[in-house]
Amino acid sequence: MFSIDNILRENIKRLVPYSSARDEYQGEASVFLDANENAFGSPLEQQFNRYPDPLQYQVKKRLSEIKGLPIRNIFLGNGSDEAIDILFRSFCNPGVDNVVLVPPTYGMYQVSANINDVEARNVPLTEDYQLNLEGIAEAIDAHTKLIFICSPNNPTGNSIDRSDVETLLTNFNGIVVVDEAYINFSRQKTFIQELTEYANLVVLQTLSKAWGLAGLRVGMAFASEEIIEVMNKVKPPYNVNEASQQLALQALANVDQVNNWIKETLNQRDRLVLGLKDFDFVLDIYPSDANFILVKTTDARGIYNFLVQKGIIVRDRSKVELCEGCLRITVGTPEENNLLLQSLLNYK
Ligand SMILES: *Cc1c(COP(=O)(O)O)cnc(C)c1O
Repeated sequence: MFSIDNILRENIKRLVPYSSARDEYQGEASVFLDANENAFGSPLEQQFNRYPDPLQYQVKKRLSEIKGLPIRNIFLGNGSDEAIDILFRSFCNPGVDNVVLVPPTYGMYQVSANINDVEARNVPLTEDYQLNLEGIAEAIDAHTKLIFICSPNNPTGNSIDRSDVETLLTNFNGIVVVDEAYINFSRQKTFIQELTEYANLVVLQTLSKAWGLAGLRVGMAFASEEIIEVMNKVKPPYNVNEASQQLALQALANVDQVNNWIKETLNQRDRLVLGLKDFDFVLDIYPSDANFILVKTTDARGIYNFLVQKGIIVRDRSKVELCEGCLRITVGTPEENNLLLQSLLNYK
């Protein structure tokens, strides 16, 4: 049985979190002399002289409406990369515990593991980019704290079979992290609805992709109240800055604009697939549930360099295991995609 007490690091269990001025007094007042801020203001038109809300209440309230989930189940980070790091720091003892990764997948899991001195046990995906459940079961031991599943997966673009993820959630006594950075582009539904079912589920999403706010650095984690409490205790007190909170809140009012972009992106993705598949240097285009496609080519490096000369940058993933010969191409605007396809007509 999963129990958070069984997997939490002892130092985190005992941790007395930093108590900020805004934690200690939350009411209204006319004079705030408790946080050593500059009382005169900011040398800007907009005023940022006050520390931001440590728990980002307004943004979470809006997200709670959009996601249909109570505020107590939402964590906000300086990008979802911060949430990934906080999961390591909360649950994995450096040099002792391990996590399971299923490459090819998002590179930050490995980097975060390395930074935190946590062993990453790699169990590669199958040839069709699905989970090797037997391999994962063999890799897990008493010190395995986290399993990272990216779905839709970066860089392969496909979704991971839902029933396989549920098998992990049911049988693994640590935390299963389902990274849904690309969920807005997917035919599959989110795992957020399963939070009431599985106490060991953490769902990651972000405002960086479909929401078009990569520069603001706002990522989300959805999980049980117990897990969210731990993450809030471990995070830096003011991890999402005031400008990002204000702009995220404004952006979250524009759901319709984002949904239109998603539709357009899916149309353009189909168009790119059609446009690319007839080139003789294209060997395969993998089915995508994301805003990018993974394309297997005869000469990834050559095509990459050719496109660089034309001022078009794609991602060369050909050195990644199971992605030999592959380029990862983000779906652009119609004009950008035209330019890409036209340029490729002149390749070789
Ligand atoms: C882009 C990406 C992220 C990063 O999200 P940020 O919120 O910008 O930190 C996380 N996971 C995956 C799989 C991604 O591709």
